[in-house]
Amino acid sequence: MDKEMDSRDWVALYKQALLKIEAGISEGQRKMLFGHYRAPDMALSVKRLAEIAGYEGMRSGSLHYGKLARKLSEAMGVQPTGDQISTIAAWRGDLKDERGHGQWMMYTELAQALEELGWVTSVESVSDQDIPVPPGVQKPKEVVLQTTQRERDPLVREWVLRTANGICECCGEDAPFESIDDLPYLEVHHICHLANGGSDTVSNAVALCPNCHRELHHGKFKEELAEDLYASIARLKRE
Ligand SMILES: [Zn+2]
Ligand SMILES: [Zn+2]
Repeated sequence: MDKEMDSRDWVALYKQALLKIEAGISEGQRKMLFGHYRAPDMALSVKRLAEIAGYEGMRSGSLHYGKLARKLSEAMGVQPTGDQISTIAAWRGDLKDERGHGQWMMYTELAQALEELGWVTSVESVSDQDIPVPPGVQKPKEVVLQTTQRERDPLVREWVLRTANGICECCGEDAPFESIDDLPYLEVHHICHLANGGSDTVSNAVALCPNCHRELHHGKFKEELAEDLYASIARLKRE
């Protein structure tokens, strides 16, 4: 960026230009811009940007983001130095994401402009928001909970865990840690819950990482997830 202008000038220029092009920003471009702003260090690879906007390949991602950047630079009356995206962000080939891709780091002046326009809520202001801190209870009272557990066959559990071999049958990721007995930690879940009359058999049980397990119980898309399991694991039978 031009060194003769100071940071405040850039913020003002970005704001002016963003307002000028506001109506012409597509949904995908908006998603990329805001996703970029919210990313850790405001840095993302082109591939991630494309994914955020729901584009198939990273080429269309960079194309659409590049177009947005060009509109922005035209509205600002500046020439991008090199790649069009350089109006929005600085290329950081050294700052690789977890997949080894170099990333674009959004300029703080642009981020500031987005905040001042009220297009995004700054991260600080979100955490500073007045969420009253509950006092809690110093000495929680003891309560006796009554639960009904159904008897389970330890051999079914063992078979399911052995078959999964340390890999979650839902997301396909490795177990997140080893348990105290040195085995990869997975949990056995009954797709048709035992409480609902489901059987304790290998055709109704799967080995899951704790995240997937919680999601299958509490997730918004738990039914879809269960359907995926039925579709992808041959031994499962609907009950
Ligand atoms: Zn999982
Ligand atoms: Zn479960």
